[in-house]
Amino acid sequence: MRLVFLGPPGSGKGTQAKILAEKKNLTHISTGDVLRNAVKNGTELGKKAKPIMDAGGLVSDNIILGMIKELLQKTDDDFIFDGFPRTAAQAEGLVKMMAELGIKLDAAVNLDVDDEEVLKRLTGRFFCEKCSADFNINTRPPKVEGICDKCGGKLMQRDDDKTEVIADRLNVYREKTKPVEDFYRANNMLVNVNGTQSFDDVAAAILNVVS
Ligand code: AMP
Repeated sequence: MRLVFLGPPGSGKGTQAKILAEKKNLTHISTGDVLRNAVKNGTELGKKAKPIMDAGGLVSDNIILGMIKELLQKTDDDFIFDGFPRTAAQAEGLVKMMAELGIKLDAAVNLDVDDEEVLKRLTGRFFCEKCSADFNINTRPPKVEGICDKCGGKLMQRDDDKTEVIADRLNVYREKTKPVEDFYRANNMLVNVNGTQSFDDVAAAILNVVS
């Protein structure tokens, strides 16, 4: 099964994509994670991407499509793309690359969440600096404030989850990423899931629509 996960920042697509990938034995590919690793490791890609990411903008389609091409060539497995495609040009680029490899997407799963909920979720989101486990003070708080339940590491907030950057990310989403939804809808591949249900209900709904 080959899927893309769509939805605004904070819709839970990353966490849900990871869970589904484990259940269905799919490779989880998050372009945000690849870029954050590049930033952490100080690579050329990281140096280019960091200021754009910190400002809540989008890394250029050329860079992202080049990255995806490399990733697709490296994996023989089925996959879930999380955070990609984020523009219509990326969606079209993916169609071409997959056609060259003789493979096809099965569906685009879109998590629907409104702006107010997105703001609440993003400002409450934390991750462990050591093991990358995710927490949210509203929905999945750590047992001890600021400390990872799993490894005792320190919990951090992403730079782009700071309140002042979130409004920009939502604007970028509306302008650039909403057309991706339209692209998959027009190709009869879009599957909408209500992302404001409880975490387990969202996971069950996703499993239901992709099974
Ligand atoms: P995410 O973790 O998916 O929210 O991604 C974090 C940031 O990485 C985004 O705000 C963008 O700056 C950048 N990014 C991730 N995926 C893409 C993509 N497909 N196209 C452009 N920029 C991306």
